[in-house]
Amino acid sequence: AFRPLDDKVSMMSNDSQNSHPHNDESPFHNVAAIVTGGAKGIGAAIVRRLAASGASGASVAIVDFDAAAARALADEVPGAFAVTADVGDYTVLSEAMEAACIRLNGLDLLINNAGWDHVQRFTDTDPSLWDKLIHINLKGVFNATHLAIPRLVARGGGRIVNVASDAGRVGSSGEAVYAACKGGTIAFTKSIARETARHGITVNCVCPGPTDTPLLEEIKQDERAAATMDAIVRATPNRRLARPEEIAEAVAFFAAAPAHVTGQVLSVSGGLTMAG
Ligand code: NAD
Repeated sequence: AFRPLDDKVSMMSNDSQNSHPHNDESPFHNVAAIVTGGAKGIGAAIVRRLAASGASGASVAIVDFDAAAARALADEVPGAFAVTADVGDYTVLSEAMEAACIRLNGLDLLINNAGWDHVQRFTDTDPSLWDKLIHINLKGVFNATHLAIPRLVARGGGRIVNVASDAGRVGSSGEAVYAACKGGTIAFTKSIARETARHGITVNCVCPGPTDTPLLEEIKQDERAAATMDAIVRATPNRRLARPEEIAEAVAFFAAAPAHVTGQVLSVSGGLTMAG
């Protein structure tokens, strides 16, 4: 039987005080999780982290529109399975999440990770690009959250972790609309945290800086975009890209944190947000 994450978190703290027999149990044992955009990059690292942590990890639905990559990862990670959907399409996502939650036997944890970026000076962009960025980065988060909340309420609580970006905290030239979507995700995180606290649901947000993923490789195909990314890394105190596993660790922290940790935003970007 599944238990709400809250029980597990409080049981874990009891464990450490009382040497409970389940001391080694992963906080994600028996947790039913959905990771959007889980097929590649940061999402894939999150899937591995949740599924494989401790003695036995979460059951994870990888919701991604790259069906082949999602299936390949699911074949490799115990407890993971693939569901194909475009997160920005409410009807399609609704069917996918229904199928995922039947297989998971409920839902405890939603990770809104799916995202996409295209680096280009704002005045050179076409409104069709804005639509695409908003569809994936903002509407995708609204859709999945809207579909998840009633299921988390039915469970007696749960966790939502959103993957935004430091672009949404400090801005980024060539990423104005993307940054607006990510800033929107941060504001959305705080607002939904307020609305759902009484149901035992926490909503928190992780903000990566430049991270070594297929998306960054795609962005760097363009020479000017590559120069922008290199300049951001040079301005970062740590002077390197993040590894996807570092972002996944912060996501796992919020996913297993006590109910009093909510509405928070954590940058994992080598000090980028405090760089001059
Ligand atoms: P990625 O392109 O490497 O992986 C993203 C995954 O999301 C892919 O599997 C892709 O198929 C999937 N996806 C994209 N759009 C989707 C949609 N509409 N519906 C379903 N699945 C979709 O990207 P990543 O770098 O791992 O990025 C993950 C998250 O981290 C994104 O939200 C991104 O904005 C954010 N982020 C990344 C960086 C970076 O430098 N890589 C920096 C800051 C924030």
